[in-house]
Amino acid sequence: MKIKNISILGSTGSIGSQTLDVIRKNPNLYRVEGLTVNKSISQLLDQINEFKPKSVAIFDDTAYEEFLTLVEEKVATSPYLAKINVYKGHEGLIKIAGSRTIDILVTAVVGMIGLLPTVEAIKNSTTIALANKETLVTAGQIVMDLAKKHQAKILPVDSEHSAIFQCLNGEESNKIDKILLTASGGPFRGRSRQDLINVSKLDALKHPNWSMGQKISIDSSTLMNKGLEVIEAKWLFDVEPEDIIVHVHPESIVHSMVQFQDSSVIAQLGCPDMRVPIQYALSYPSRLDSDFERLDLFKIASLNFQRPDLDVFPCLDLAYRALREGGTSATVLNAANEVLVEYFLNDKIGFYDIPKYIEMAMNEHDFIDQPSLKDIINIDAWTRSYIKNIIN
Ligand code: NDP
Ligand code: MG
Repeated sequence: MKIKNISILGSTGSIGSQTLDVIRKNPNLYRVEGLTVNKSISQLLDQINEFKPKSVAIFDDTAYEEFLTLVEEKVATSPYLAKINVYKGHEGLIKIAGSRTIDILVTAVVGMIGLLPTVEAIKNSTTIALANKETLVTAGQIVMDLAKKHQAKILPVDSEHSAIFQCLNGEESNKIDKILLTASGGPFRGRSRQDLINVSKLDALKHPNWSMGQKISIDSSTLMNKGLEVIEAKWLFDVEPEDIIVHVHPESIVHSMVQFQDSSVIAQLGCPDMRVPIQYALSYPSRLDSDFERLDLFKIASLNFQRPDLDVFPCLDLAYRALREGGTSATVLNAANEVLVEYFLNDKIGFYDIPKYIEMAMNEHDFIDQPSLKDIINIDAWTRSYIKNIIN
């Protein structure tokens, strides 16, 4: 296999660092071309020393200035630092993503900030290993149409979507009847609404099966993560909202399933480890050897499935509503959620304020049925300021 050039948006995060671990284990298959971070410059420096990328980008202004100073100090002992291109801000992310020499862009930033860099890569027909689900939630139609036009592959990294993608191997001519999307249920599975009114961010951050970034951990506690994934599944696999059925599956062993027209259900199983779907997106259509933990079904013994409780987790219901409405509804849902999760993480609002204000923003916004990329950016900005005005 020809060595593949990889760039990672968000290389210091949970997905970004696990992507680097996959690359570390397969030095003959992959080389790192570009890395981006928000503020974690000392971790970035370690990554530069280990992986020798050609270019890096730092989103945060202050961190960018600090990084330049750090480079000046360290260049005598690490001469490689003098050779790399260092870019700044959103433009910097776009520059890294838009390089024509990369084979795969791993989108592992959090939030819709990943949208324009992803669009830039798609325009070059670069393969996207997509973790950044917010990009598809906010602008699914535009991203998928553009990918089709430029024949850019979008390979899912999200474990459920990787599972569905694997279940569809060789099934191109067959009709999907339903997608059975599994969900761990998060840290609050089985709780009542009353139990959750006063939960803190620390309770919400304790995920039972996966260790992830803060934003997705809160999204998992509200089940908004599953809502975003329902929307992500619609765009990746072209299925109707009512044909995507969420199954709460506390063991997180079945990563999702596809039911076909003849009633057969195909599932993908494995121990919960994000490196498996990350590696598959990098090596597709091949599979690589790995030392990842093997599934021991005798030890697990039983697999359970339940319906989600939409009264306790209204965010999931709101995501279905956004998907049914189409147009700009999911853009509003996503932007409002991003801002509200930030407020929740700063102890400014309660758990149920998240769905409450998302619903208000969805009701209030000026709906556009066929939005352009510019419309999406405007509606996203409108939503963020609408929420900020309410909360302050
Ligand atoms: P993390 O919070 O762990 O990492 C986010 C990364 O993006 C970091 O490198 C961070 O840099 C960078 N970043 C954050 N904000 C900005 C910004 N405004 N501009 C530029 N860079 C930024 O997130 P995760 O790895 O958990 O999640 C990344 C994406 O993958 C999300 O969309 C999530 O939904 C999705 N995903 C994650 C899974 C997981 O297991 N973690 C599973 C499936 C999907 P810095 O370190 O400097 O802050
Ligand atoms: Mg997932």
